[in-house]
Amino acid sequence: MQDILRVLWQVTPLKPPRIWQNCSRCDARTPFVCSGRFRINAQRKRLDAWLIYRCASCDQTWNYPVLERGLLKNIDPSVFRALSENCGDLARRHAFDLPRLRRYSDQVEEFAEVTVEKRLRDRCVHEPGQVVISIASSLPCRIRLDRLLAGELGLSRSTVQRLHDAAMLVVSPGNRAAMRQPVRDGQTVAIDLRSLERTPDLVSAILKGAA
Ligand SMILES: [Zn+2]
Repeated sequence: MQDILRVLWQVTPLKPPRIWQNCSRCDARTPFVCSGRFRINAQRKRLDAWLIYRCASCDQTWNYPVLERGLLKNIDPSVFRALSENCGDLARRHAFDLPRLRRYSDQVEEFAEVTVEKRLRDRCVHEPGQVVISIASSLPCRIRLDRLLAGELGLSRSTVQRLHDAAMLVVSPGNRAAMRQPVRDGQTVAIDLRSLERTPDLVSAILKGAA
């Protein structure tokens, strides 16, 4: 039986989407960038909260509503604290809520740059015959699967595509177009290493920086 090397790649987008809006100060349509800070306003028994965006040209603010007229008594104290402390996780969750962002602008600009954190899933296999990469992404990523694999494996995109066409690289769940589509949480990529040249290089690329 061949040895399988199992790794987890946690893929995280580097930048939240920008929202294109009409900027009153620039008197033009400009991209607004998430500041990562919240503004909250408690009045009587109600709470409003916004995530603050700034015009990329002039710093004019646009407040993205994340909580509207919420009843204070119904708001979890941990959520209230996260809003008051500008919790990064909470800000990211709202900043990547694409369906909701699109209610405020027909132009939500996403970015393909990601960071990849690698972890070994089990013992290190000395000379693996197959590598199974599990992809986890808790936020939506725009990077295409072939670009991610090519970049992280040090291969050309045409080589990645050739391996896919030859079924030496199998994506699941996947389809013929999977390589050109954005990576998805829960996807696995199995690479048959037996007939590949430079296998040790590829294995070290797959593991590079792995914890
Ligand atoms: Zn502006």
